Amino acid sequence: MNEKMLKLGNNRSIIRELFEFSKQKKAELGDDKVFDFSLGNPSVPPADCVNETLIDLLKNEDPCYVHGYTSAPGDVEVRNAIANDLNSRYGTSYDASMIYMTCGAAASLCITIRALIENSTDEILAVAPFFPEYRVFAEAAGATFKVVPADLKSFEINFDELVKIINPNTKGIIINSPNNPSGVVYSKNSLMKLAELLSEKQKEYNHPIYIICDEPYREIAYDNIEVPHIPSLYNNTIICYSYSKSLSLPGERIGYILTPNTLDDYKNIYAACLGAGRAYGYVCAPSIFQKLIAKCANQTSNMSAYAENRDILYNGLTKIGFECVYPQGAFYLFVKSPEKDSMSFMEKAKKYNLIIVPSNSFGVDGYVRLSYCVSKDTIVNSLPAFAELMKEYK
Ligand code: PLP
Repeated sequence: MNEKMLKLGNNRSIIRELFEFSKQKKAELGDDKVFDFSLGNPSVPPADCVNETLIDLLKNEDPCYVHGYTSAPGDVEVRNAIANDLNSRYGTSYDASMIYMTCGAAASLCITIRALIENSTDEILAVAPFFPEYRVFAEAAGATFKVVPADLKSFEINFDELVKIINPNTKGIIINSPNNPSGVVYSKNSLMKLAELLSEKQKEYNHPIYIICDEPYREIAYDNIEVPHIPSLYNNTIICYSYSKSLSLPGERIGYILTPNTLDDYKNIYAACLGAGRAYGYVCAPSIFQKLIAKCANQTSNMSAYAENRDILYNGLTKIGFECVYPQGAFYLFVKSPEKDSMSFMEKAKKYNLIIVPSNSFGVDGYVRLSYCVSKDTIVNSLPAFAELMKEYK
């Protein structure tokens, strides 16, 4: 068997590990005694459009159409509906020929990276902190994965480090904003600076450098903060999108890749994505959810509960003395560990039935991530436990 795959299969991600631990603890102690902040599983129900459309499809459409194969890149009506939604929001001119339906952001990323990588010297960069699976996806696609160390002051893109790392082998850089795990939304200024740097380097190296824009949290942004549409700032951008978070559908596995017409050679990039999707066996994303998206592309779940959770958790923890990054989007709070070793902090937190994720796998040491897509009661009831935990450090 393949040693690399065996290793991946045997070493579960720490997030999954903690989630399993929490399930075990809940069975022992009761659900309300364990405060599980491990997993980014949406806690608000899908928009009404989701169940209404599903019922309508099941009741009123031909089952062979509803459950049947679609075209390999997805139903053309669905891709048109998505393109129209994007055009109405961003003033763009996208169409169905630029959209490829996928099984969520994970598949979008795997396909996109595979479509771009030519050989193992090709490098994919990620800005820390980052979603840990990027390393798995990039390496499985045959790329060399490199980390741009975090800017620990702002958690925006660390340009001092990026200019040191970028080189003629750089094929692409993954950008995730609103960010998992920091909650930071990259400012338009940062993104324009990135566009300027990459444009210079494209000329210098005489080949394209792609921004791979992973944006499953695009619609989860607070206080009317702008989440810029990156293809409008930089030509060689590919969007990897998912409805897992915006419509609360993570288990249904539906998303898309957008290869916009701003890309140099966008028709061939799209064709390479078709090829990569085919090579991975990812053709024809779940049929019924494609048809649902055609009706619900412009909808989101009600995000107000996340905003309320953010305020309660951020205010509660900073009051006790924890240092936290102020989240502008997504549903994660990045908290500085009161001791250097965040693994040890995570273990201490377990004694108070607080399940939190150490930051090492996100490419930063000394922090923990709390997913606040949980009930408001979980957050409110966890605060005394956090206060007890903090006493250990005073
Ligand atoms: N990218 C980021 C930043 C994520 O947080 C996640 C999931 O949590 C994914 C990608 C994968 O999303 P999906 O479930 O749509 O595959």
